[in-house]
Amino acid sequence: MKNYNIKTNTKKLGCFFIGMMAIATNVFSQQIIKKDVEIDAMVKEINVDSLRQNMTKLVSFGTRSTLSNQSSNTKGIGATRAWILSRFNEYAKSSNGRLTAFIDTITYKADGKRVNRPIILGNVVATLKGTDPNDKRVFVISGHLDSRRSNEMDSVGDAPGANDDGSGTIAVMECARVMSKHSFPATIIFVTVSGEEQGLLGAYFMASKAKKENWKIEAVLNNDIMGSNNSNETNIIDNTRLRIFSEGLSVTDTGKTATQIRNLGLENDGRSRQLARYIKEVGERYVENLQLMMIYRNDRFLRGGDHSAFVENGFAAVRITEMNENYTRQHQDIRVENGINYGDVIEHIDFEYLRKNSGINLANLANLAKAPAIPEEVKIDVKKLTNSTYLYWKAPKTGIVKGYYILMRETTSPVWQKKLYTESLDMSLPFSKDNYFFAVQAVNETGNESLPVMPAVGR
Ligand SMILES: [Zn+2]
Repeated sequence: MKNYNIKTNTKKLGCFFIGMMAIATNVFSQQIIKKDVEIDAMVKEINVDSLRQNMTKLVSFGTRSTLSNQSSNTKGIGATRAWILSRFNEYAKSSNGRLTAFIDTITYKADGKRVNRPIILGNVVATLKGTDPNDKRVFVISGHLDSRRSNEMDSVGDAPGANDDGSGTIAVMECARVMSKHSFPATIIFVTVSGEEQGLLGAYFMASKAKKENWKIEAVLNNDIMGSNNSNETNIIDNTRLRIFSEGLSVTDTGKTATQIRNLGLENDGRSRQLARYIKEVGERYVENLQLMMIYRNDRFLRGGDHSAFVENGFAAVRITEMNENYTRQHQDIRVENGINYGDVIEHIDFEYLRKNSGINLANLANLAKAPAIPEEVKIDVKKLTNSTYLYWKAPKTGIVKGYYILMRETTSPVWQKKLYTESLDMSLPFSKDNYFFAVQAVNETGNESLPVMPAVGR
């Protein structure tokens, strides 16, 4: 049995555990980091020049207010959508016909809130179709293409929205550019939505359609405000950390499921939280000088974003956002007031930070879409009281499996600490299930692992 202790990132747990638990010695042991060369090469292909070029064009449309002009070729949201579509179509040329793009539109009526007249709402969607016809899994990366002024109803004045959310939009486009030249068994959707600033309209449009049509979305990586490296007031400058917000429990965790979660102490293992944990590990595996900070919240205090539309429809979704926000730039008209430069302009974008942040998206999308599907019927044996743990499962429905990782962590640990490898469909571990959490992932030849599955009770 091989034992891959892939980067566990437990260093910061410090010396509290020294000598206390056998597992804690792992903290200071050597870690084997096994990279997939294809993913490594793709991450390295993301580049600052390409990001800057697209960003420069994006901010040239004046405003991207969802309420702005839809018929001009050079200004407003109509021109923006058409340009993003043209970029996706350009990338599609090297995809062997697998990348297809369109603008998904809906007529949205005045809602008495942030939409004061009927508008055509349009999400620009590029789909990189999976190569395995039996693999129905879908992985989504999103950003919002719309921007806003201080007054969200002002649809005329300049609103460059370089960071909010030009950064997320450009990251989505860059991932599409690089990944469309490669093929994956599962499907990846690159989407830039509209209407975020008017009430997450484009995201709700897409998420409710996905639910109604039963899309098998396993992960949504929503990128919103992730290209600037500093804060106002506290004046922190840092492009080495990035936040991943995730909810603990899903709206679908009700009734018996909720009781089970409470009984087994699984409050920290909901699907979105599990996804955040996965993103942290895989992201830090491929992108250097970037620490992913999991925030145990769906979003920032009393604020929201497009991933909320997906979590409310029962999907696993996270928000990816820069470490420190600058409120003199966000949702602010460009002006100078009391010596402070307000406005969300391109000069404030740290393209090296945006490169790294795009990289963690790409690494995760690629790793998920290359990986086999999740193992089926993962169970933890509870037939009798014992001080060991017996796990068993069935092979995934799709994908070529090489083996399985059994993940293990202390109940108080935010990240998985041990990763044990087996090629069989069960494993017995000399650790009590009372004291640790376990999960199982399917992994292929090139080391791409599925999302982890927490075991159900097996009698
Ligand atoms: Zn935003």
